[in-house]
This record gives sequence, structure tokens and C-alpha cells, in this order.
Amino acid sequence: MKRRKFIEKLSASGLGVLAISSVIGCKSKGGKRRRESAPIIPIKPQVIATWNFGKAVETAVQILEAGGTAIDAVEQGCRVEEADSKQQTVGKGGMPDSEGNVTLDACIMDEKGNYGAVLCVKNIKHVVSVARKVMEETPHVMLVGEGAEKFAISKGFIPEDLLTESVKKAWEKWKETSEYNPIINIENNDTIGMLALDKHGQLSGACTTSGLAYKMPGRVGDSPIIGGGLFVDNEVGAAAATGLGEAVLKTVGSFLIVELMRQGMSPQDACEEAIKRIVTNPQSDYKNFQVGYIAINKKGETGGYSIHEWFSYNVYKKGALENIKSDFYLANKQ
Ligand code: ASP
Repeated sequence: MKRRKFIEKLSASGLGVLAISSVIGCKSKGGKRRRESAPIIPIKPQVIATWNFGKAVETAVQILEAGGTAIDAVEQGCRVEEADSKQQTVGKGGMPDSEGNVTLDACIMDEKGNYGAVLCVKNIKHVVSVARKVMEETPHVMLVGEGAEKFAISKGFIPEDLLTESVKKAWEKWKETSEYNPIINIENNDTIGMLALDKHGQLSGACTTSGLAYKMPGRVGDSPIIGGGLFVDNEVGAAAATGLGEAVLKTVGSFLIVELMRQGMSPQDACEEAIKRIVTNPQSDYKNFQVGYIAINKKGETGGYSIHEWFSYNVYKKGALENIKSDFYLANKQ
């Protein structure tokens, strides 16, 4: 089949292609180098996301299968959970800080290595989209608190109360004891970190959260921080985190995973190594907190690993969405 026909056929089947043209060192009879095409690698769009956010992943996949970009896919996917007021860990309906204020953190990274983030934002539910605006429409990478909220409003985002009645009741009950003891990831629905590979072979990622329930006012975790909750390197792969942000930040977890993949590790091995960095620290209290990582490489291979067994992630296996229970550190070491 001629090369162009082959590419057209792949595109029609929903697969992208990665065509690498290079000068291959073979000589023609006349002794001159001639240009040859390297093999064409078909690219199957792929999405991976933390926890059991099936609807968000389906949304992202639909965008990719329609030929959309990875950056649109991760933004739109995350928005599904931000809009779901029953989801108590992201967007509207998220758990508040110890004073009853819902404050959201989010970030996004595109295939060019651009990054945008908003931290500790009140009253705006689609913080992932605000982060994208920071990335694309300001000379900065990060806006925080009131400044971020003002910026969002100036871009047309409508402020609203993010504290739902049921969450307010839970907070009021918590206040009766007022014990500062944030619960970390003991439910199977937490921060959403999402990574996508589109049919053009481009990688992007996003992460959005309400952070730890009843956190100290002003506390920000890993989720909006580049290299912590998210890192994308379009040459290599991408990674995202969920769980105790402090532990992720201290080991620069997502950046570490991408760097390990750069050195040749599979996404699975890289996630496992990053978890090991946390638990092998002699000061680590890892039995009392959770961290989970997901990763994807340029080929669309994926992996995930956590400290405890209560972590799962979504990925496409044989063309169908699957929620995979991650392998976990404590299964192997006590
Ligand atoms: N990583 C988030 C944070 O530390 C929390 C979570 O994933 O549950 O803010």
C-alpha cells in the first residue's frame, strides 16, 4: 500500500500516526545519501485518570476519538467532575477547609510544556478551565486566592456558592469535635488527575481537587503544583498523583516518574519506584496515608501504583473503559 493511502486508512479507523522521517544511513549506487521514511507508528488515543471517574474519562475519550486534542480532552474530562455537586472531592460540592470554605486547586499542562495553575480559589467551580486561561492568556503560570477568582470573573466565569447542604452538614458535625485530622483518600473518589494522548501523538494532562477535607485555611497540596500532582513531557510521557499532597511534593512525584520513564522505565515501573521513594524514607509514616500515581508514555502504555489497596484508575483496555484496581506497596512489604 502506498504511504499516503496507508495514512488515510489509519486516520479513517480513528488511529493517528506518528511518521518519523529521517535520513537513514544507506547509500545509493552513486554514493549519495537518500532520504528514507522510518516506520509509521499508529497511535491509538488513550486516556488514563485517577479513581473511578468513568464519566470524565468517557468524555475525554469521545473528544479524542472525534479527532480532538489531548488538551481539550483533559480539560473537558475534568470539568465533568467539577460540575458534579455529589462529588465531594472536586469542584462544586467539594469538602471545605476547617472554617467551612470550599477552596479549589487545579493545573493543566499541554504538549508544548506550557503550564497554568490556580490555587486556593473560592466560588468558581471550573478551576481547570481557569488554569487553562492562566496558561494561555497571561504571561504567568500561577494565580492564587482572590487574584485567581478576580481573574476568573474577568474571563466570564460565574461565581457561585460551592458548599452544598449535605457537605455543610458534614462540616458542622465535624466542627462539634473540631479535631484537626484531615481524612486522606479513604474513599474511592478523590482528586482527579487525567492524562491523554491524542491521535497526533501529543500528550497533555490536568488535575483538579478540593484538597484535603477540613484542611487548614490556605493549605495547598500537590495537585496544582507542576511536578507534584502533574507533569507532562511530550517527548517522554506524563504522570499524575492523588493522595497526601505533602508526601507527593516532598518527592516531586510526577516529575520523578516522567524522568524515570525518560531513562527507560515503563510507566508501571516508574510509578512503583516513585511510591518506593516515599515509603523507604525512614521518617515516613506511610501506613497512615495514601498516595497513588498514574502514568502514560508516548506509546500509550500506562501504569498505576499506590501505597494502599484503595486506589484504582481508569484506562482503556482492548477498547473498553476499565477501572483497574492498582497493585499496591503494602501487598509486598509490611
Ligand atoms: N492530593 C490532594 C491534596 O493533597 C488530595 C487528594 O488527592 O485527595 O490536596
